[in-house]
Amino acid sequence: MSKRRRIYEGKAKILYEGPEPGTLIQFFKDDATAFNAKKHEIIDGKGVLNNRISEHIFTQLNKIGIPTHFIKRLNMREQLIKEVEIIPLEVVVRNVAAGSMSERLGIPEGEVLPRSIIEFYYKKDELNDPIISEEHITAFGWASPHEIDDIMSLAVRINDFLSGLFLGIGIQLIDFKIEFGRLIEGDLMRIVLADEISPDSCRLWDAKTNEKMDKDRFRRDLGGMVEAYREVATRLGIMNENEPQRGKGPVLVKSDKSDK
Ligand code: UDP
Repeated sequence: MSKRRRIYEGKAKILYEGPEPGTLIQFFKDDATAFNAKKHEIIDGKGVLNNRISEHIFTQLNKIGIPTHFIKRLNMREQLIKEVEIIPLEVVVRNVAAGSMSERLGIPEGEVLPRSIIEFYYKKDELNDPIISEEHITAFGWASPHEIDDIMSLAVRINDFLSGLFLGIGIQLIDFKIEFGRLIEGDLMRIVLADEISPDSCRLWDAKTNEKMDKDRFRRDLGGMVEAYREVATRLGIMNENEPQRGKGPVLVKSDKSDK
């Protein structure tokens, strides 16, 4: 067996060279990190769940015409993706105050925002991903004004779609983080959704009980992280409900045709 070339290793994922030029393999690790990796644990089964949940969401987004880097899931932990040039921004969309916005602005967690708010953070671990404005993005050339327009309109569409998707399964989408990349297609370059969308990158609250079903379970030492992620997958209809028995780890069912 030949060793694959590792292109990049992040906190929760590894990127390997893909089988064809212009493709990569995205591997989902079990590592959970928070507070810029000051807190770190291995959470057995998390990578498998995030791979499957992100596959499901990206597939649905592709179907409604949101361009993404996603091609197909390859196995329990890996997906085939298109190689893109990552724009160094974390784009956060918020519907309800929580986390850093509540701390920064003193808005109580759980307060519904007057309208959805899009924020930009500069992706730079050494600086703890500082919040920035469009002015910084264009002045420093991280993205052009036209690209920012594309990013914002995609972010709004993604938020509308995801809010409905989750509400339909009894989950409130509080906020989420997305990343975009530039995809080169011949003479054309377009902005596509990249990275992942999973309970690692979203705040998801049970619509009835407000129970947290996302990475805050880890950040805030609430326990039951994998169980919560598994519940999200089950409600999305992508887990075999009879499985797994406790301790056996997550069991995936094949995607049905409507998923392709
Ligand atoms: N988020 C993320 N990666 C980050 C920072 C934030 O996926 O590096 C997500 C986080 O899970 C939440 C949203 O972005 O869904 C907003 O996070 P916030 O700014 O409130 O930061 P936090 O409180 O997580 O530090």
